[in-house]
Amino acid sequence: MIPFDYERADSTQSAVKSIGTRGAKFLGGGTNLIDLMKLNVERPSTLIDVTRLELTRIETSTSGGLLIGALVRNSDLANHPQVVANFPLLSQALLSGASPQLRNMATTGGNLLQRTRCYYFTDTAFPACNKRIPGSGCAAILGFNRIHAILGQSDEGPRSPHSCIATNPSDMNVALAALDATVHVESVSGKRNIPLSKFHRLPGTTPNLDTNLKPDELITAIELPPSPFAKNSWYLKVRDRQSYAFALVSVAAGLEMDGSTIKSACLALGGVAHKPWRSPEAEKALAGARPTRESFLHAADLALSGAKGYAGNAFKIQLAKQSIVRAFTLAARGTTAGAEA
Ligand code: SF4
Repeated sequence: MIPFDYERADSTQSAVKSIGTRGAKFLGGGTNLIDLMKLNVERPSTLIDVTRLELTRIETSTSGGLLIGALVRNSDLANHPQVVANFPLLSQALLSGASPQLRNMATTGGNLLQRTRCYYFTDTAFPACNKRIPGSGCAAILGFNRIHAILGQSDEGPRSPHSCIATNPSDMNVALAALDATVHVESVSGKRNIPLSKFHRLPGTTPNLDTNLKPDELITAIELPPSPFAKNSWYLKVRDRQSYAFALVSVAAGLEMDGSTIKSACLALGGVAHKPWRSPEAEKALAGARPTRESFLHAADLALSGAKGYAGNAFKIQLAKQSIVRAFTLAARGTTAGAEA
């Protein structure tokens, strides 16, 4: 590990002031950042420890939704009574991620900033990775790409400085996308709110950037609006083993029912793109439909209509479609009933 300085911030103001130091990074739970520092992928000049800041509350927001402090631990968030009762999709997604030990350490703000687990990104022995070394190419396109993207990727060939087919590894982010979350951030210039749909980004021509957060901004909270999906939602995660594994495909699905008709739906996919993949086309198609296998299949076809697979991950297209049908089928049975299915 390369030497670095360490500072402990005692207020949000002092933290955002300190981040002006060139190459500095905020340290929360450290469950991803420290790993990447050990691998020589992340090389901050200074770590600004923000774990003592007063950002640990979960409270009702002014709109009647939920305001979640950026330093709330993943396990505390997943098990909070208001989250379990009103946002079970988020609770389920959090509990499907990592291991109990990691969830006890990982913070909400840090989870938003998890970096890809692309093998070529985390292993500095590989010289071609536009995310780690801008302009170096993308080894994954012709390499081992089982866990990589099928939607929204940037693919101009393995040598292009723009190419990247990495995926966002978080489960929490998928549920937050489906639930229309907003991220609150602060810097010395002031405060702003970023809709989750605009927080993470597709690789485009700058695959080194995962989010639209500015380097000097600190995440202070995540806000959830009141959700109509609590009674009928499901987070389905498909992975190579049942525990402590990232999603090959995950689905956050919610239905707002009006009798036997779907009034509205939310759908976001994980493990398939550089950001949580929301599908407004599928959601629109489900509004006013009956909760049948045919309706869910039609929505799945729409959600995957632009998908492109590679040698190692083309199976994900069909897997994602089947997972969408399964997640909506379980959601339609009721959030609790789905758990017993
Ligand atoms: Fe790097 Fe992205 Fe290519 Fe992986 S997919 S090697 S992160 S550029």
